Amino acid sequence: MAVCEILRLGNPKLHQKSEDVEKSELDDIKRVIDDLHDTIIDFRARHNFGRAIAAPQIGVFKRVIYMHIGTSIPIINPRLLDMSDEMIEVWDNCMSFPDLVVKVRRHAGGKIIYRDQDWNQQSLVLGGDLAELLQHECDHLDGILATQRAIDNRSFALKSEMDKLERST
Ligand SMILES: [Zn+2]
Repeated sequence: MAVCEILRLGNPKLHQKSEDVEKSELDDIKRVIDDLHDTIIDFRARHNFGRAIAAPQIGVFKRVIYMHIGTSIPIINPRLLDMSDEMIEVWDNCMSFPDLVVKVRRHAGGKIIYRDQDWNQQSLVLGGDLAELLQHECDHLDGILATQRAIDNRSFALKSEMDKLERST
């Protein structure tokens, strides 16, 4: 178990597409999940945000997401399904660019199917925060960053400025 370095915006590896996990790799993947856990806890202590992390963000190009929202939910080989036609606009942050937020458009809801770390098929109905979060994380597995989904050229802001605005409203 270890806190890993998080690849940051500008590192071309963040644009690499990740590969499906095979069942035979599960033991290795459990170690990756432990590392993702340690890394997100460390990040959150320093930056005060971070609900999920994708394996490619620590340089492991496998289709694994680790979500930590009260409980720990490892998500292996996810697929988004039945995404709603309704779209929402959100200011997205990312552990790979902690000082920046980007306004993006995401589906308002949908569904995700995936394997858990015992290789059982699982699914989650997605709405609100969870929908937005898991679209962001699945993008990482395809090498896509929120910066590439910016709605227009005014869709970038420093996180510190946005926090100031939020405090004043
Ligand atoms: Zn991210």
